[in-house]
Amino acid sequence: MEQKNTPIEIARLTLMQLTQRKIQPTPDNFRTVYDEIAGFKSVDQSLEVVRSLEKVLYEAGKKNPKFIVVAQAITSIKDKKDWTKLEDQLRKLFPSSNNEEDSSEVNWSVLIRTLIKQLEVSHKGVTLSRKKEGLSRVLNNFASDSDLLGQKIQALITSWGDSSTALEVPSRTISDLSVQDPLQINQSGSHPSSSHSSIDLTAQNKMLALWRDMLLKSFELVLIPHLEFVPEKQSKAQALLEKMRKEHKEPLLYQHAQDLKIVLLNIEMERDNQRRIHQSLLGLLNLMIRSMGELVVEDKWLYGQTAMIKDVLTKPLNLDTLYDAENSLKDLIYKQSHIKPALIEAKDTLKKMATTFVDRLVELTESTTDYHSRIEGYQTKISSTEEIGELNIILKNILEDTKSIGLNVQRTRDEFKVIQKKAEAAEKRTQELSAELDHISEIAHEDYLTGTLNRRGMDEALEREFSRADRFNTCLSVALMDIDHFKKLNDALGHATGDEALVHLCKVIKEVMRTTDVLARYGGEEFLIILPGTPQQEAINVVTRIQRELTKNFFLHQNERVLITFSAGVAERVSGENPEILIPRADAALYQAKNSGRNRVVGSETVLNLQE
Ligand code: GH3
Ligand code: MG
Ligand code: MG
Repeated sequence: MEQKNTPIEIARLTLMQLTQRKIQPTPDNFRTVYDEIAGFKSVDQSLEVVRSLEKVLYEAGKKNPKFIVVAQAITSIKDKKDWTKLEDQLRKLFPSSNNEEDSSEVNWSVLIRTLIKQLEVSHKGVTLSRKKEGLSRVLNNFASDSDLLGQKIQALITSWGDSSTALEVPSRTISDLSVQDPLQINQSGSHPSSSHSSIDLTAQNKMLALWRDMLLKSFELVLIPHLEFVPEKQSKAQALLEKMRKEHKEPLLYQHAQDLKIVLLNIEMERDNQRRIHQSLLGLLNLMIRSMGELVVEDKWLYGQTAMIKDVLTKPLNLDTLYDAENSLKDLIYKQSHIKPALIEAKDTLKKMATTFVDRLVELTESTTDYHSRIEGYQTKISSTEEIGELNIILKNILEDTKSIGLNVQRTRDEFKVIQKKAEAAEKRTQELSAELDHISEIAHEDYLTGTLNRRGMDEALEREFSRADRFNTCLSVALMDIDHFKKLNDALGHATGDEALVHLCKVIKEVMRTTDVLARYGGEEFLIILPGTPQQEAINVVTRIQRELTKNFFLHQNERVLITFSAGVAERVSGENPEILIPRADAALYQAKNSGRNRVVGSETVLNLQE
């Protein structure tokens, strides 16, 4: 017979008690009744393990609050004896890099950089002090759990909303960032899903991949185009780019680095070459202009033109100044081409008459040899002079000489006087024409190409319309328009077609705008419309109508439709505001229109704010 205190006997009695007391035979109930019968408390080994774990975690928590959070969770599990959650808590101690959902691992360097950036950039409706308040709240509430803190900071940043310069905290795996085609990455850093096999990478690897993408993008879009004029080297660089995209394992990477060095050297040489070509061309142009200036010192019109080009060449070159110079030159050439033929004709007629007269004099004075030889001298002078003023002096001298030898041939003298009068009239006329030409560049108001007002004309119109608006206390708006991607049109169809497109656009604008509106060429492919008596919204409607009209009344090039679009910024004048303030406001709105996708009209916000 078994002893009562043997474990088997105690166990048997325990089972009997459980049945009698109708207690569920769970391990815990069994242990309680067993201890009761045995008269002592048995050791629960598993509970001991949990207690040790708890103790160690609390100690570790002094250094990293993450462990305290888990220790507290384990205490609660132990008290409730709810062991099902134990495993989950233990897993939190070892974040798995495989687990995409595991966001408890915070990349602090990325997060802090993002935080700094996001504090600096503006978010609609969130002021800096609001951001700081939120941040301080998060820091106070979650300081004890660094991972939770990281998550809360990320959530806070997200709650500030989008900003154009916002940097996203990378939280995707590298497979999201298709290493195969970095150019597919859009501005926000997100990427269309890719079928490439997923590679498990840590946050650091993600950063590396981003760097790599940026490098490849710069290589393709910035560096390779520099080799445009050396196609052989350019295709080598292109081939290297393809290789770099396909293969990026370590040994090949070293080879690529070597090859890249050679490409960079080629680019450096080519850039230097282009710089020297550019400088030599400028030098050549300068030389030409200088010698032209010297050759034509007496030709004031040409002199004015060369002075203008010289002026452009002394400034840092950009397309706008070049086009400005070109346009003014076109202006001058156009106006001068109307006046100069008249001048040349006047001079030629006069010269012909003087020659005829002197020829006749020679016939009359064959016997007077001394006088004869002097007249011959005049003949040579007349044929070599190009100046009307000088011609007049020669004629006066002849008259004196004729008097001094007492020549008295009435008919000849009468004829001479008529010619002299004509010479004086022609001189006067040429002086007038010269003066007119000299001032043409100062008085030109119209742009030769488009027939719209040029900058000078625009300035006068602005002054006139602004003072009218002040006098009558009426509103006024301006619209600044800039053709979209005009450079591409020039590149594809040629500069002359570009010019035709500008003329076409102006024609369409003039058809839509009212007679009181004023159109001016603001520069290159930019136009300004002054809309007197028009509030901002109405001005926006006018410009939108021009846009619509352009889609119906399209520009034709060799019978092909070429769609021209433009972006525009519209600003309404605040009472007393001058053009130097108003136009930049329209320009800022234009900038927004360009930035938000082009082919649109944007109103200036400043005026709305001022009116609020
Ligand atoms: P975006 O609208 O986006 O600004 O693009 P874009 O191509 O218009 O760029 P940008 O304003 O910088 O370039 C303007 C180009 O307009 C430069 C030049 O090629 C061209 N352009 C300027 N004036 C004239 C001109 O009188 N005739 C022609 N054919 N082209 C001109
Ligand atoms: Mg432009
Ligand atoms: Mg443009």
